[in-house]
Amino acid sequence: MSCIQVMNSFYSLMNSIERGTKMDDIKLTNRLLSVIENDILPLTMRGVDRGNKVFGAAILRKSDLSLVIAGTNDETSNPLWHGEVHTLKQFYELSERPDTKDLLFLTTHEPCTMCMSAITWAGFDNYFYFFSHEDSRDRFAIPHDLKIMKELYGLEPGGYHRKNAFFTSRSIPEMASLANEPERSDFENRIAEIKATYALASQTYQSHKGETGIPLD
Ligand SMILES: [Zn+2]
Repeated sequence: MSCIQVMNSFYSLMNSIERGTKMDDIKLTNRLLSVIENDILPLTMRGVDRGNKVFGAAILRKSDLSLVIAGTNDETSNPLWHGEVHTLKQFYELSERPDTKDLLFLTTHEPCTMCMSAITWAGFDNYFYFFSHEDSRDRFAIPHDLKIMKELYGLEPGGYHRKNAFFTSRSIPEMASLANEPERSDFENRIAEIKATYALASQTYQSHKGETGIPLD
């Protein structure tokens, strides 16, 4: 094989790997958005009516992206029942459950320090989030994640390791922005709709704020 042929086969291999990754990411982004739209948001809309925060989560199988469980914040019952921890609690109440190394963790908002530790202690090697910590502060008037990171650990926004020895975390809107057309436009439209629905959920939550006895409301 000539040098040029070797280089050509190398480039075609790299292209197919890149395409494969993109296809997987498109399938994954599509599925993560669907789970937020169809499984988490209906639970959260009911949760905010009861005075709970807007945060939700879900657990999916890596193998076929099927849903194991979805959940939402229930801080009016227990201030530790953040969307992620409450979903994990319900996951461990299932009579049969897959090994967490075979599962994906989806969270609507980048987790607080308690929740990212809980995801780690439960043995997940990943989480995917929709809204960032900065979004929680700026869009939802819930600045506690960033305040706790700063006060307890001296970390500025974005200062923790999103990729580390335990897990790799990824932003769903960032994954969507890397897709090619026509998928990217479809994702952007759905992301805009999801944001609009969360803005309504946030209004409902804020209207109950102060009445529910949640310590950090
Ligand atoms: Zn949390």
